[in-house]
Amino acid sequence: MKAAILYEPNTQFKVEEVTIDDPQQGEVLVKLVATGVCHSDLHALQGEMQCPFPIVLGHEGAGIVEKVGHGVTGLTAGDHVVLSALVFCGRCSYCVSGRPRLCSLWGRMAVQGTLPGGVKRLHKDGQDINHFYCQSSFAEYAVVNESAAIKVREDAPLDKIALFACGATTGIGAALNAAKVQAGETVVVYGCGGVGLSTVIGANLSGAFPIIAVDVSDEKLERAKELGATHVINASQEEPVRKVLEFTGGGADHAFYCVGGVDIIPQVLRSTKFGGKCIIVGLPPRGSTVETWRPGDFLMEKVLTGSILGSSRPSIDIPRYVNLFMSGKLPIDKLVTRTYALDQINDAFAALEKGEGVRNVITF
Ligand SMILES: [Zn+2]
Ligand SMILES: [Zn+2]
Repeated sequence: MKAAILYEPNTQFKVEEVTIDDPQQGEVLVKLVATGVCHSDLHALQGEMQCPFPIVLGHEGAGIVEKVGHGVTGLTAGDHVVLSALVFCGRCSYCVSGRPRLCSLWGRMAVQGTLPGGVKRLHKDGQDINHFYCQSSFAEYAVVNESAAIKVREDAPLDKIALFACGATTGIGAALNAAKVQAGETVVVYGCGGVGLSTVIGANLSGAFPIIAVDVSDEKLERAKELGATHVINASQEEPVRKVLEFTGGGADHAFYCVGGVDIIPQVLRSTKFGGKCIIVGLPPRGSTVETWRPGDFLMEKVLTGSILGSSRPSIDIPRYVNLFMSGKLPIDKLVTRTYALDQINDAFAALEKGEGVRNVITF
């Protein structure tokens, strides 16, 4: 099969023939139909993520089960699946208490570049190729752990719902699961990339008002309005905190940080009202620190917290979000700006690096 191999950080992907093993115990082989291009893939490409090379990146895939390994009972060939970036053990205290996203398994596997069990199913010329987030979806096929293949209804378009594997679930879940936004509560979202816009979509579904979107791109702010933002602030032209306090009458119930640079986190916290929640959703650059806290904020019961992968339980949330998408309540298809073939993967990453579009998707 063909896969896009990255031999070293900061180089071009090479689309080459690789071999893929049959699925073993607890694994499934999936024929990819589509995969989103996420900022975490870009971080890996730029050498900002701890992962071994050569590697096949990609962690936002959707496709059709081709074959199942021994012991797989929940899936059969022909099932449509969204490949969650979250692989979990099912046995640790986090997993059994309903928070599989905090399981250490997926993080450890990402650093090792393997599937659970320390195995690698991709090879080229007798050499093992590393996996990314136990998925490696920039390839025609992927072998994944069954916990990561979430069965979804077959009438849902896989080239759209692939976004529920990572980005859309991260943003929507931040609003619905982490913040539990209620109707009439006030929301501000800093950063209108795929994750930030998904947070806007989630807040809109919850009935929040106002929903304030902050970015430096008028184009992205326009998109935020289409998806439910009631107020927008271009932070390159206006001081965002002052405007947020004005629009909300003293700060938002929920303030979401959905961009890469950590320097704005203090602004997000200042945009949160007393007793409100400031939630870190975007992936901060590795090793970055923030120093300008005002301890008095916390005395006034502000909460600063984070949300990983939308604080989701993939097997519950992904099918639920797919249903809501099909009913028109979560219009994540509007996040897809362009589709590329696997051979055009370097163009897709060049566009992402330049900040063009919201979400680019590779289709097979
Ligand atoms: Zn991602
Ligand atoms: Zn676990």
